[in-house]
Amino acid sequence: YDSSTGLPNRAFFIESLQQVFDADGASRDRVLVLEIDALRRVGVGWGEAVTAALLRELTARLLADLALVLPRPPLQPPHAWGEAKRPLLARLGDSAFAILLSADEVCDLDLAQRLLARLRAPLTVAGVDLVVNARVGIARAPEHGHDAETLVRRAQAAALAAVAERGDEGVIRVYDPRLDNSERHRLALEARLRRAIEREELELWYQPKIDARDGSLMGAEGLVRWRDPREGLIGPDRFIPLAEETGLIVPLTEWVLDRACADLRAFAARGWQEARLSVNISAAQLDHKRLAEEIEARLARDGVAPAALELEITEQALMPRLDSVLDTLKALHELGVAIALDDFGTGYSSLGYLGRFPLDWLKIDRSFIQSLGQGGSGEAVVRAIVALAEGLRLGVVAEGIERDHQARWLLANGCHIHQGYHYARPMEAEVFARRFTGRFEAAPWSGPTGALESFST
Ligand code: C2E
Ligand code: CA
Ligand code: CA
Repeated sequence: YDSSTGLPNRAFFIESLQQVFDADGASRDRVLVLEIDALRRVGVGWGEAVTAALLRELTARLLADLALVLPRPPLQPPHAWGEAKRPLLARLGDSAFAILLSADEVCDLDLAQRLLARLRAPLTVAGVDLVVNARVGIARAPEHGHDAETLVRRAQAAALAAVAERGDEGVIRVYDPRLDNSERHRLALEARLRRAIEREELELWYQPKIDARDGSLMGAEGLVRWRDPREGLIGPDRFIPLAEETGLIVPLTEWVLDRACADLRAFAARGWQEARLSVNISAAQLDHKRLAEEIEARLARDGVAPAALELEITEQALMPRLDSVLDTLKALHELGVAIALDDFGTGYSSLGYLGRFPLDWLKIDRSFIQSLGQGGSGEAVVRAIVALAEGLRLGVVAEGIERDHQARWLLANGCHIHQGYHYARPMEAEVFARRFTGRFEAAPWSGPTGALESFST
């Protein structure tokens, strides 16, 4: 048995399944593996006590849910070895549970869907509010394996493939032979990324934020790049999701913060006295209770004024965590670190939370900027966001500005802090320093040049 949940462990699960195979070569059993995202994250950020409480809570929930949706409740440990080996719920590994079913009892997809729906109900453990998202992988005998080991391994591969899929909704994946390859590929990428962080093969590039009224430099956003010795430059969309799933986002963000602090000092020394940089903080980082303390310690250590740092958090990352992150954000705010709500307008429609939160900036998502002048509802949305920001006394930034008419429209409609290829693409720190920091003090920036001598992402 697994000591933290009291459930059967992996060995027990495999043995039970093997007995089913041995007794009936034509077994039509199904293995469902549930990968629980919160367990991956909790393990990384919160330590053992919260993890243990969450495990207990999840186990109780799963047992209760299974009892509701299955014709027979799962066997409760310790149970006798007898005729009925299933349904069975086991703890398969750190972040995974497994369910063993016979095909005749219930449809596996139907069961998976119902479990996912029930697991999504919010949960409070050890004072932390959580939304549990699970992904399910399914393997079916006899098509996917004739022995217990193989069937379980393949259900796990399917669950990991489901984890790798983007999107917040619970995903269910049935095993497919092609997964064997993609899972191996993913593990290889994870190992390479881990090494890249250790060897500091990451780079932090910067994209300026310009005050379009006078062309002055208002700040810059740090955007991470991975310079792989073989593959060359790799963009964040290819590795940030993986880093988030595997917990590598923690050391990665630490590296980014260190880099940004060092660059803040370098840029200030090169003439940008009001240097302000923003960095992106992932959802998984927000669950980390000591985030504010750690940032405070880092700023103190590096001699950086808190007001020089800004954190960008996407609306999607913030919304499901409103209650649990309020304290963290308040602490950061009191410290003087600014908070920007990134990709604003793409998340949820409830706006009530805005007033309760210590936010400083709304960053209008680039999809709205790109729709300006195209006759759709984009203009109305941008106008509304600008008015909202004004009413709440927040700053408003537009990102993804690529064209002159977009810049002009925004300026005419009350949004003057601009970021986008029209002004400059993200560029290496050294290039940014040369082009923006020194000259700014001497003569304000005088027009978009970035589109020509661009540094591609
Ligand atoms: P984001 O925070 O929304 O960053 C803005 C993205 O839009 C950047 O892509 C930037 O290069 C791109 N962009 C800027 N101006 C324009 C424009 O005019 N047109 C278009 N089409 N795109 C523009 P990038 O650098 O590939 O970053 C993608 C995402 O990766 C970021 O989206 C952010 O969510 C994530 N990311 C980047 N760096 C980090 C990091 O250090 N930590 C974390 N957690 N996430 C990061
Ligand atoms: Ca951002
Ligand atoms: Ca954004």
